Amino acid sequence: MDVADTPSLPMGFSAHISIHQPDIEEAIDRKVRTLPNVTVREGTELTGLKISGEKVGLSLRAGDVGETMHSRYVFAADAARSFVRSALGIERDDSGFNERWLNLDGERKQPLPASFEETKQYCDPARGHMFLPTGTNRQRFEFALLPDEDTDEMERVESAWRILKQYHSVGPDDLRIIRQIVYTFECRMARSWRCGQVFLGGDAAHTMPPYLGQGACSGIRDAANFAWKLDLVLRNVASPEVLESYEPERRPHVAPIMRTAVMLGKIANTHSRTVAFFRDLAFRFNLVPPPQPVLSFPLCRHHPGRLSRCPGKGCGLGTAARASQDRQSPCKARRPRWLQLRTDC
Ligand SMILES: Cc1cc2nc3c(=O)[nH]c(=O)nc-3n(C[C@H](O)[C@H](O)[C@H](O)COP(=O)(O)OP(=O)(O)OC[C@H]3O[C@@H](n4cnc5c(N)ncnc54)[C@H](O)[C@@H]3O)c2cc1C
Repeated sequence: MDVADTPSLPMGFSAHISIHQPDIEEAIDRKVRTLPNVTVREGTELTGLKISGEKVGLSLRAGDVGETMHSRYVFAADAARSFVRSALGIERDDSGFNERWLNLDGERKQPLPASFEETKQYCDPARGHMFLPTGTNRQRFEFALLPDEDTDEMERVESAWRILKQYHSVGPDDLRIIRQIVYTFECRMARSWRCGQVFLGGDAAHTMPPYLGQGACSGIRDAANFAWKLDLVLRNVASPEVLESYEPERRPHVAPIMRTAVMLGKIANTHSRTVAFFRDLAFRFNLVPPPQPVLSFPLCRHHPGRLSRCPGKGCGLGTAARASQDRQSPCKARRPRWLQLRTDC
């Protein structure tokens, strides 16, 4: 897999990892196809769903061929416009965040300037835009669309070259465009992630703007949470009640991620010049509070790849790091205390 990462020594993990999403999906697909208890049915569409008693009836269509099957459980990760969610009549709560963005993915034809190796967000109130490397040879560009810009027009290749030239002096000699699409970034959560034996996951359950890069990550966490429980239930090791913990565990985790993604989007891409002026002042004079700590104890990494809680008072590095952070802070009184996670305990 083509992975570009930025080392971050203090945390022991990369500060930023960038991978072309289709590479991950292909890797998952390859793995899944090796599993003896999985059948992959490409080109088959779910066209009907009915819960009757202990079973879920599913109508499928592959080309002209229709079929009906029954299942004990269904986990629906059928995207933001989820057919299953609609069939179950589950509404979504909408946070009111709806922005159109032009998304351009390109393969580099020749090396780009070193500045393109980093993720850059341009917080321009006239038009928010950004770029980031995806893997080592691909580049993604995103541009907020202005209210009078037409979606179809912005999906024409001429528009891509015009906007790339205008903002980044990038042209057809530098890049081969492999994907050009206008997305509406939205933030919506299904009111319920379950109806009977049918469960929702991924974008079907929650969508968020991509400012934290957490949409697919959250969907993968949903699947990881649900899969081991379903496995236990199907093997009669656990009672079906264990599945009731899926939504209560996942919803409180994903909800703050969604709120933070929206907040970041509002800060980075405000259209108000006045708000942008004060935002820039706050950043320039370091008046922005640090993120609140989510953990209340220091963590140590005892073995590569494993973090664990520091054992008692004997291991004081986390505390020392926190105190020194406070001393260095120029405006300590206004700031919440930092929690420093150490990796060299
Ligand atoms: C511009 C942009 C940047 C992003 N960046 C990131 C990022 O950096 N990190 C991150 O984690 N996430 C990111 N995301 C979010 C991520 O792409 C999505 O959250 C993720 O792809 C959702 O996965 P999913 O499996 O839930 O849905 P999808 O990937 O949409 O897959 C749904 C599948 O269900 C199938 N399907 C739908 N309906 C039916 C039906 N009736 N019958 C049969 N099959 C059906 C579809 O064909 C599709 O294969 C980004 C999104 C955007 C738009």
